[in-house]
Amino acid sequence: MTDIKKICDLCGLPVEVFAFTLKTKEGVKMFCCEGCKGIFQLLNEDELLPDDDQDKSLNK
Ligand SMILES: [Zn+2]
Repeated sequence: MTDIKKICDLCGLPVEVFAFTLKTKEGVKMFCCEGCKGIFQLLNEDELLPDDDQDKSLNK
């Protein structure tokens, strides 16, 4: 298997779907579910970076 194994940055469970990510000052964090992502956001508000890609697609 050449799959890159990634574990949830909150709870440490294997990440099966790469859909729950956050940009932070320390790099991109990955989570196993929406719940873990939400909790990390609450605990690390100061570390989060704005998502540039979303801004572009909004076409303000
Ligand atoms: Zn998790």
